[in-house]
Amino acid sequence: MSARLAGTNTKKIEAALSQKTQEVDDITEKCRSDLDAERAERAKLEGALEQLRLKAGGEGKVVGDLKAKVDELQESLAAESSSRGKLQDTVRVLEKTAAGAPSGGGGKSGFSVEQLELQVNSLRNKVMCNVCNVREKEVMITRCGHTFCKACIDERITSRARQCPSCNDKFAATEVAKIWLTE
Ligand SMILES: [Zn+2]
Ligand SMILES: [Zn+2]
Repeated sequence: MSARLAGTNTKKIEAALSQKTQEVDDITEKCRSDLDAERAERAKLEGALEQLRLKAGGEGKVVGDLKAKVDELQESLAAESSSRGKLQDTVRVLEKTAAGAPSGGGGKSGFSVEQLELQVNSLRNKVMCNVCNVREKEVMITRCGHTFCKACIDERITSRARQCPSCNDKFAATEVAKIWLTE
C-alpha cells in the first residue's frame, strides 16, 4: 500500500467519521428535544390526573349523600308497602262483602264498591300520618290531641321546631304520648 493511497484513505475515514459525529450530534439533539416534549406532556397529564382526583373526591361526597337519600327512601318505601299491604287486605275483605251483597248497592250494607272504596280512603287518611303520608299514626301531642307518626314528631323535637303540624301549637318533648290504633 503506497503512502499516497494510505493518506487518501485516512482523509476518507476522517471525513466519514466527521459525518458520523455530526449525525450522532443531530440524533442526540433530537433525543433531547423529544425528551423535553415528553416531559412537558407528562407534566400536563399529571396536572389533568390531579384535577380528576380532586373531582372524584368531590363526587365521592355526592355519591355518599345520594346513598344516604336512597337508604332513607327505601326505608319509607318499606313502611309504605307494609301499610299498603294492610289496606289491601281491608279492601279485599270489603270487596268480598260487597260482592256477597245483592247488586245495585241495595244489599244489607247499602254500599256500592265505589262507596266502600271512598270509606277506605277516608279511613286511610285518618290512620296515616298526614305529615309524611307514609307511616301510621303512632303518637299524640297531648296538648292539642293531634296525632302523627313517631318519626315526624321526633324530627320536630330534634330540630327544635316543636310546633304541631296540624294546629301550629307549641309543644314540649314531654307532651307526646304513644297511642295504639288497634283493630
Ligand atoms: Zn309522619
Ligand atoms: Zn295540634
